[in-house]
Amino acid sequence: MAHRKLEPGKLVVASHNKGKIREIVELLGPYGFEIVSAAELDLPEPDETGVTFEENAEIKAVASARAAGLPALADDSGFCVEALGGDPGIYSARWAGPDKDFAMAMRTIEEKLQSAGADTPENRRGSFVAVLCLAWPDGDRAFFRGEVEGQVVWPPRGTQGFGYDPVFQPDGHDRTFGEMTSDEKHGWSGSGPALSHRARAFRLFAESCLKG
Ligand code: IMP
Repeated sequence: MAHRKLEPGKLVVASHNKGKIREIVELLGPYGFEIVSAAELDLPEPDETGVTFEENAEIKAVASARAAGLPALADDSGFCVEALGGDPGIYSARWAGPDKDFAMAMRTIEEKLQSAGADTPENRRGSFVAVLCLAWPDGDRAFFRGEVEGQVVWPPRGTQGFGYDPVFQPDGHDRTFGEMTSDEKHGWSGSGPALSHRARAFRLFAESCLKG
């Protein structure tokens, strides 16, 4: 679907999460925007009171667009484990607690999987989801969703990436996101399609809203 085009200029990345900001800046790299994050602008972090990725992405994008008077791009994303009914899902950041302890959050997932008797590849399925919301200061907005499926592995492997990357091995690969460079995680090291949930959502956003 065609959307209103985003003119070159200042664009706010509506996030305070360093790993996410870095990836979005990489993905936006070739398009010549002057990117500034909500963290750099010292914008308040709104409460994520939505019950879907779309609602939370919208809350963040609209808050930043209004506060900065600039177009703002937000990503709401999470790790969804099938045998846990889709948890941690929209609560992925919260499972790491105030100290952002993802070693603990990954262990919690593993303990719950073991309690559920999930010990075969078939019942250790998981996916990452990312929803991008682009909000304009006049209230207009657009949404783009990307997903990538794979296996929840244990123990965690790799020190690259962030969050739950070390326990997720995407289908068709023998390494976790934590063992991939960011170009590999985005799916940009070959001529194939985008790989990560964020790169897949970003591709839809770029096709609809970016010029060139
Ligand atoms: P949000 O800021 O509420 O969207 O939180 C998203 C959370 O999901 C992050 O803090 C991570 O825990 C997790 N997450 C989202 N995307 C990724 C990713 O690409 N790799 C690893 N973890 C991710």
